Amino acid sequence: MTTILQRSNPDIYELIGREDARQKNSIRLIASENYVSAAVMAATGSCLTNKYAEGYPGKRYYQGQEITDIIETLARDRATKLFSADHANVQTYSGSVANLAAYLSLIEPGDTIMGLALPDGGHLTHGWKVSITGKIFNSVQYSVDASTGRFDYDQIEKLAKEHKPKLIISGATAYPRQIDFEAFGRIAKSVGAYHVSDIAHIAGLVAGGAHPSPVPFADIVTTTTHKTLRGPRGAMLLCKEEYAKKVDKTVFPGMQGGPHMHTISALAVALAEASTPAFGEYAKQIVKNAKALAAKLMEYGFELVSGGTDNHLILMDLRNKKIGGKKFAQVLDLAGIVANCNTVPNDPAPPFNPSGLRMGTAAITTRGMKETAAEQVAAFINQVAENIDNESAIAKIKEEVLAFCSQFPLPQQFV
Ligand SMILES: *Cc1c(COP(=O)(O)O)cnc(C)c1O
Repeated sequence: MTTILQRSNPDIYELIGREDARQKNSIRLIASENYVSAAVMAATGSCLTNKYAEGYPGKRYYQGQEITDIIETLARDRATKLFSADHANVQTYSGSVANLAAYLSLIEPGDTIMGLALPDGGHLTHGWKVSITGKIFNSVQYSVDASTGRFDYDQIEKLAKEHKPKLIISGATAYPRQIDFEAFGRIAKSVGAYHVSDIAHIAGLVAGGAHPSPVPFADIVTTTTHKTLRGPRGAMLLCKEEYAKKVDKTVFPGMQGGPHMHTISALAVALAEASTPAFGEYAKQIVKNAKALAAKLMEYGFELVSGGTDNHLILMDLRNKKIGGKKFAQVLDLAGIVANCNTVPNDPAPPFNPSGLRMGTAAITTRGMKETAAEQVAAFINQVAENIDNESAIAKIKEEVLAFCSQFPLPQQFV
């Protein structure tokens, strides 16, 4: 297959090869990224990309669905079983689409929604003003307590009582602590609001028993499938039976056309993988690694928002180190350590050069790194901070990072 690509499109072949090498030879700490298994990758690149399958199993608009119906049913069944949900829709192309679909399944444009503000760790699609969700809904945003970096559930309840939203969103894209989904469910009930929980980042932890599930406490749960869950790029919605028809209708024909069956087949593979005891071990190791990385970073004098982590994610506040988030991310990248700059709660710096750095341990854990390796990653990060303006020192760290990475093979090989 790769030789065919090499012959027909040598430029793209070469670029994919270079990206493969980049992913191999760097320490990937982007909290939303991972490495899928060779099996997931194989399903993603299959003939299913050729098939149109508008509709749902048993109710399609085109012929030739005898195989796609079985595949989508398998994906749905594996999703509902893994997350103990009544119903799953596995067709959404991305987490952003899934969120909009969840809202539009329950409320109308113009209604009030309440989600976590983006600078405090919320996602764009939780009602941030530049997102369509902040334009078509009346969006009220809650924040984290600036002194603790954590949710203050009493404050969130107060805000809910004041604004009476029709829908409350729980979940985050940069929150290092366990989320009390039961509390969000209770707050939503107390003001007559729906509760949508977005577990895009932590779905793998929930599946693997390393974070409590929101399924019993939310009307609809949305999640991407490619972060800690370690599946193909995409998203799904899980809901109670009473919303099943509405959710399916909102996704198709409401918002999308044909589902990406190659992605859905790869999701079915990933969900089977996530149902194994080995995946439970993986999820728990992600958290152990994050805790080890966090503890070591704090030993080096780095300040972490909320003082540590309960999940896969670490949010570093760089103000005491006098290094801008953007610069730190750039120099880390030169040393082969890939993370992203991020706002911290109450960030005084502008969003294009925020005071924080966000890291996650899902990808390095897939490579087989354990606590000792996570501590070594912390040491590399500290070395970069101490040599932030020293080009030759950074080049030397890159060599060490390269040697370190070679000890941890990837689950799939490109060539
Ligand atoms: C990543 C993420 C999304 C969006 O997913 P895309 O597939 O990038 O659209 C939505 N919500 C949260 C909390 C996320 O972290």
